[in-house]
Amino acid sequence: MTREKTVAVVGAGLAGSLLTCYLARRGYTVTMYERRPDPRTGKVERGRSINLALSERGLDALRRIGLDRSVMADALPMRGRMIHPVEGEPGFQPYSSDGERAINSISRGALNNALLEAATALPGVTAHFDHRLTGLDPKTGEMRFDTPHGVVEAQADVVIGTDGFSSAVRGQLLAHTGLTESLDFLEHGYKELTIPARDGEFAMDPGALHIWPRGASMMIALPNPDRSFTCTLFWPTGGTDAFASLSSPAAIEQHFARVYPDVIELAPNLVDDYLHNPVGVLGTVRCSPWHAYGRVGLLGDAAHAIVPFYGQGANCAFEDVVELDRILDETGDDWDRALPEFEARRRENTEAIAQMALDNFVEMRDKVASPVFQAQKKVEHALERALPGRYVSRYELVSFSTTPYAQVQQRVRRQQRLLAAAAGAAVLAAGALAAFAFRKGTGR
Ligand code: FAD
Repeated sequence: MTREKTVAVVGAGLAGSLLTCYLARRGYTVTMYERRPDPRTGKVERGRSINLALSERGLDALRRIGLDRSVMADALPMRGRMIHPVEGEPGFQPYSSDGERAINSISRGALNNALLEAATALPGVTAHFDHRLTGLDPKTGEMRFDTPHGVVEAQADVVIGTDGFSSAVRGQLLAHTGLTESLDFLEHGYKELTIPARDGEFAMDPGALHIWPRGASMMIALPNPDRSFTCTLFWPTGGTDAFASLSSPAAIEQHFARVYPDVIELAPNLVDDYLHNPVGVLGTVRCSPWHAYGRVGLLGDAAHAIVPFYGQGANCAFEDVVELDRILDETGDDWDRALPEFEARRRENTEAIAQMALDNFVEMRDKVASPVFQAQKKVEHALERALPGRYVSRYELVSFSTTPYAQVQQRVRRQQRLLAAAAGAAVLAAGALAAFAFRKGTGR
């Protein structure tokens, strides 16, 4: 069925291309506008290749439209964290109690290309690259784009901004409607480094997400199908213990030899990567409302960018697409009702994952290395095995289920209260037993 309304999707990144697939399948005529050249024909920017951990929420969105198998063909499962201490051997911590469940390392570029390929193969879809949105009238849906050939104007019945962290559509809603926003930048930025294949093989275990937790800084590495690893170094952008503090090759080598000693040998291009790859910023975007006049909406990072420490930004954006599709089903494609309903259902969930992602930064850069944390994880997995389905860890609920994020937070709080009460009762019982034994022993 072809629908009367035309939709413009601004930003053909991960969320935009998946959303286009869903909308085109509903029968909409969809035009995608992307500020960058077509990534299927161009080169990836240096230091911006980032691979992603795709987990159940993202997979669920792909599965619903039959894209999971093709997209996941090149993904590499990671069944746990490999913690690299400053001294000594790395240690493996499984993500799930059975040690089997995995998150999947996938190239952002390959994922984007596969989704674009799927979207543009559908009837009714047109994609315009090198089109940067610079103007939007939210009342009429009239848009203006800067292109290499000058300014281009277009109009659509519905305009969805999937243009990421620094969304221009959000900027236009800020300028023309009552939208308010807050951008909380993290003190830490990130830089990409590479651990290439060694003699054609992976230089580390490809079945794990590698973490170098160092308190003030942290590095992670995810495997790639070409047997290399993409590393992301998280460090404050300014100050003495920060990216800005290293500017010479000698200083970079000395720093890594002291803080990440095993990486020196694994990353022969370390100095070149460090000097030439850009430092990206990280932060949380909060704004409201995500829609205007029943015809303009925001989705994905444009509405609610989060920090990457739970590996959920793209997963959450894909979940947005599924929810919007469900609401269009329920409302009979009444966008006037669907856009506010979308925000009403998603907001508490995106706020919950934003907070959990911030909390997980502390866990990843600090706690994972501590023996207490490792013991806690073992107890948690033992509980999961002893009480299947009744005790489920936060990591498991976030990464291996589609339980709404807000419910995950509530359930984890409830479990923690029960555990504290059970631990308290166990301490009381042990005390009573000891007192009884003492009285028996002394005859009192
Ligand atoms: P984007 O992917 O940013 O896409 C926005 C698109 O809009 C881009 O193509 C851009 O060029 C285009 N655009 C921007 N402005 C305009 C304009 N004016 N006109 C037209 N087009 C425009 N998420 C995970 O799920 N798992 C992970 O492991 C993970 N790791 C991450 C690691 C790092 C270091 C970072 C920074 C993020 C990570 N994320 C991860 C988050 C994930 O990358 C984002 O949440 C996801 O890309 C959001 O998708 P999006 O389509 O909303 O935005």
